[in-house]
Amino acid sequence: AAKRQGRNDHRFYTAAMEASAQKEFDLENALRFAVMRSELFLAFQPRVDMSSRKIISTEALMRWRRPDGEVCLPDEFIPIAEASGLILAMGSWALKEACRACKAWQNGPLQGVSVSVNISQVQFVRDNFLGFVMESLRETGLPPHLLELELTESMLMEPSEAIQQRIAGLSALGVKLSIDDFGTGFSSLAYLRRFAIDTLKIDRSFVMHMTEDPEDASVIHAIIALAISLGKRVVAEGVETMQQASQLAALGCHEMQGHWLGRPGSVEQLAMLAAGKTKTASFRSMRG
Ligand code: C2E
Ligand code: MG
Ligand code: MG
Ligand code: MG
Repeated sequence: AAKRQGRNDHRFYTAAMEASAQKEFDLENALRFAVMRSELFLAFQPRVDMSSRKIISTEALMRWRRPDGEVCLPDEFIPIAEASGLILAMGSWALKEACRACKAWQNGPLQGVSVSVNISQVQFVRDNFLGFVMESLRETGLPPHLLELELTESMLMEPSEAIQQRIAGLSALGVKLSIDDFGTGFSSLAYLRRFAIDTLKIDRSFVMHMTEDPEDASVIHAIIALAISLGKRVVAEGVETMQQASQLAALGCHEMQGHWLGRPGSVEQLAMLAAGKTKTASFRSMRG
């Protein structure tokens, strides 16, 4: 009986694994046409400056509207895009589209608001990356200081000479650089001093429990102190409550991003938020 059950288990797992491999394969095939068929779009999430209480920046977040109308989030398709190399075309599209959108909103209520774009390792290490950034700025006419590139700690771990030059080159262009999900990577703090990184974005996982968990609060405290002493800006991600927001403000955090400030949305929604025409801008009522 045990043997038969074992064999059934085996068959079950095989079928489940086949189904998931098939699903991935289908997803990859569908994704292959996403750029060409204009199925990708960007959602923009506000970044709010704590001293002025204003939206000063936005993060561009990729969305995929499939032909059946279903909107997929990055966690469902970015890993497949990275593994298949499709991220190169998708990431290029996102970078240029973010520049175009940001340039366009300079003529309205979002004037002065910058944009940040997530960059995958695969994209960043490509030889022509710096050239593509320059091309995107030139073609769209976006001033470099209004573009920020979000890198991850792992990209800066043991950077080759070429990567170090790339970072210096981007910085020389006037483009801003930030480290996303800060605190979750392998922390080699030496690179923070060495490289032209402008901003640290504290990972949401620390913010999530900071009001109940003193250890998470300590990590946040330390990151903010580090950023301030190194002369960098610090942004907290995933701020969902007023308690988190006031605690972060008390610690001297420069900017906040999260559902409490505003969810990712269209440029129109962002403009409404900036103009104070919608209620989601909870930061307006924040004290302290
Ligand atoms: P990320 O760069 O850390 O972006 C922040 C993520 O947290 C976004 O998820 C955002 O919607 C979500 N978020 C913001 N505030 C809150 C909050 O208060 N609570 C909660 N629970 N979540 C919040 P999203 O849009 O699903 O993106 C997930 C990840 O996918 C991003 O994490 C980023 O690493 C990646 N990604 C998104 N767009 C792109 C892109 O254009 N290129 C690349 N390479 N990666 C991207
Ligand atoms: Mg990001
Ligand atoms: Mg990220
Ligand atoms: Mg992040």
